[in-house]
Amino acid sequence: MELLIITLATIIFGLLVLKLFLKVWPKTGKFGINLDEVVCPQCERPVPGVRKPESIQQALYGGWTCKNCGTKIDKLKKVPDLFNN
Ligand SMILES: [Zn+2]
Repeated sequence: MELLIITLATIIFGLLVLKLFLKVWPKTGKFGINLDEVVCPQCERPVPGVRKPESIQQALYGGWTCKNCGTKIDKLKKVPDLFNN
């Protein structure tokens, strides 16, 4: 019985910490997290959920290269100049 209570308390505490973490973590910038679906800003086709990084920048900070038009998109759905130059 004690073990069950400890387990439940740990799970609840973990979820609260995760919720707080997602609230506090930045949505923008290099370390932002974007959990929304990403659509190519040029041709409006959705990019795959599982991405294959095509550069060190994409591997480190996230982002996609559109399979349809080749536009490079960062994880926040912007087309950063530093990717497309
Ligand atoms: Zn595209």
